[in-house]
Amino acid sequence: MAGLYIHIPLCTQRCSYCDFFSTTLLNKRVELINALCKEMKMRVDYLPNGLTIQTIYIGGGTPSLLTSDEINTLIDCALETFPHVDIKEMEITMEANPNDLTDEYLKKLSETAINRLSIGCQSFNDTTLKIINRRHNANEAKEAIANAHKYGFNNISVDLIYGMPSQTIDSWKDDVATAISLKPNHISAYCLELHEGSLLTKKIAKGELTAMDESDCLACYKHLREATSAAGYEHYEISNFALSGFRSRHNSSYWHDIPYLGIGPAAHSYDGKSRQWNVSHLPKYLKAISENRLDAEVENLTLTEKYNDYILTALRTSDGIDFQYIDDKFGKRFNEFAKEVATVQLKENNVEIEGEKCHLTEKGIFISDSIFTEFIVLDD
Ligand code: SF4
Repeated sequence: MAGLYIHIPLCTQRCSYCDFFSTTLLNKRVELINALCKEMKMRVDYLPNGLTIQTIYIGGGTPSLLTSDEINTLIDCALETFPHVDIKEMEITMEANPNDLTDEYLKKLSETAINRLSIGCQSFNDTTLKIINRRHNANEAKEAIANAHKYGFNNISVDLIYGMPSQTIDSWKDDVATAISLKPNHISAYCLELHEGSLLTKKIAKGELTAMDESDCLACYKHLREATSAAGYEHYEISNFALSGFRSRHNSSYWHDIPYLGIGPAAHSYDGKSRQWNVSHLPKYLKAISENRLDAEVENLTLTEKYNDYILTALRTSDGIDFQYIDDKFGKRFNEFAKEVATVQLKENNVEIEGEKCHLTEKGIFISDSIFTEFIVLDD
């Protein structure tokens, strides 16, 4: 089992908090689609032992800037290139900007193989949306979700951010209530990260805007957990909440040490032994592919790095880490270390241990970074 990620690095404007790789070079899209298909063919043998693709995730950037024909071209190319499970069993996600989800576009999209939409709402507050330079407003975000339901999408995820300038705990409560009222199957909610060099970070540094303080961010997170839980969502990963049967299968593979292939500029790949990432520059990416080569860096992972990656991802999930898996995959030394740390954290009520599994408690979730640090092995 494996996942395929396709990166569409196109945006019509830059959101002020963003540090994802994207460009406004929209005139390159035809060249980009051709290059993405060519890269799939070039990397047909990347995944070990002919693993079958179960999930495809078209992310960005803004994949909803592509036409439904372009989406079909990418999916057809992926299905023809890689071994995959029956298409009816696949999760095929596309990220979308709310104001691209018009009736006409959704109708066409519903005729493609996309069966999951991840809608980047971020907030339902017009003041906040303006400050972060999103190109949609609150009404467009609400309509996009309602319309996606109307056109038969029955697996919809909504992205939200808390901790942004102008947000208050009350305005966040409204955002969460609005999201829940629109009945998405899945909610991803992240605390604002201030990336070096982003416009928002610069404005905050100059004192033009003020970000929410840490205690208010924690209050927002606490409310998010309570409100989603009351509405029937399972908190299955630190930032992710799903109705029963609607966990993100693609993202779950990142958290469970499953190999994935990333296609496109800046896309990351993992084959179980090494990580690899393509150049974060559209013209350089296109040039390399046109010359039948990949402009990418590779990092071979040591056993310690693999163990640490497993801890940092699996411990984020409600399934947690599995001592038997650690023993089988990384060996006795790592298993004994993880068990020792878990025993100490159990006494502090930061983790729960059930048989061979160990996951964070509610108390542990709120101090997760410090617990991850305890489980990390520094030497090799
Ligand atoms: S739409 Fe997404 S990728 Fe593009 S600038 Fe905004 S946050 Fe970044």
